[in-house]
Amino acid sequence: MSESRSANAGLARELLRPQFRGMSAYGAPQLDVPVRLNTNENAFDLPAVVVRSIVEAIEAEAVTLNRYPDREFTELRTSLASYLEQQAGVRLPIEMLWAANGSNEVLQHILMAYGGPDRTALGFVPSYSMHELISLATGTRWVSGERDEHFDLAADAAAQQVREHDPDVVFLCSPNNPTGTAMAPEVISTVLETSRGIVVVDEAYFEFARPGTPSALQLLAENPRLIVSRTMSKAFAFAGARVGYLAADPAIVDGLRLVRLPYHLSTLTQAAANAAIAHSDILLSNVAALKAERDRIVDTLARWGLEPVPSDSNFVLFGGLDDAQATWQALLDRGVLIRDVGIPGHLRVNAGTPEETTAFLDALADALGFDGSLAG
Ligand SMILES: *Cc1c(COP(=O)(O)O)cnc(C)c1O
Repeated sequence: MSESRSANAGLARELLRPQFRGMSAYGAPQLDVPVRLNTNENAFDLPAVVVRSIVEAIEAEAVTLNRYPDREFTELRTSLASYLEQQAGVRLPIEMLWAANGSNEVLQHILMAYGGPDRTALGFVPSYSMHELISLATGTRWVSGERDEHFDLAADAAAQQVREHDPDVVFLCSPNNPTGTAMAPEVISTVLETSRGIVVVDEAYFEFARPGTPSALQLLAENPRLIVSRTMSKAFAFAGARVGYLAADPAIVDGLRLVRLPYHLSTLTQAAANAAIAHSDILLSNVAALKAERDRIVDTLARWGLEPVPSDSNFVLFGGLDDAQATWQALLDRGVLIRDVGIPGHLRVNAGTPEETTAFLDALADALGFDGSLAG
């Protein structure tokens, strides 16, 4: 049995598209530990009033499940447009909105329509690793651009790399995952001016940005090659439902209709998302609490002599560790799961509930021999 299993593994490897051979799948560990701060989820459960609305919405739609869903998810696009108007002050017609099962699928639609074989995507690493993985999965050539030693990207450095690689798609992640910092607006406008292709600004964490950070949504009116992607997975506390969306010129959105699977957003997903967006005030009320926990992590780690990176998101990347892997394991041994993002000397941690954040700080103080009484 085990012999044929390993023979089959060899066969599968041969049959696999060459660019995937030897790669390992995306996979933050899903471990059953008391404190999970490794995938940038929203730490707070959904409030009962929102749960009730979602259940009622799904119950009302269940009888229609013999029919395919609204292929154009018109109500969802209307809900998202009103949310963006309220959150970002940008009023968009629903023809400029698109949604899919998580912004990962949104990104996949973008690359299927505007990337692909013989085309190049450029991103500035370290950044969200799925930009590269989805590029490869769609046959798009991937180029890893560079940031400076503080993980910042200056406008002239971005422009120079765009000129050098002449990409069909550029990914800008703001606030950036895994570093946490929002991009200076000049970087986005300079990349738009220098490039000839699609510019994707991934704003998955935008709701957590520090006050005064402008959204790229403001630039949509003058930039028909710009796509701004967002998600309900983080600030909205809706990761389990899988709903991401984007805003772009209606002609760009039309291109996505060519590559999506028919009826890609289920009736249940649409109903749940509409019910959740109707409660956006309640769902987003925890954003302020998470920002306060994030700032507590940054302040405490800096006081301990570690090197937290300034954060506009719900997580903190911190350096100054002698052995990041050993610290990661020491935290896990103490029941706290955070993320090793593969940057030497660095780890990434989510802002949790106040209790979870304290548990992380206590565990880290214990693991590294700091005085935990300073963790406030
Ligand atoms: C979490 C994340 C996403 C998307 O996640 P979905 O759950 O697929 O919506 C997109 N971009 C970045 C940078 C992220 O960190």
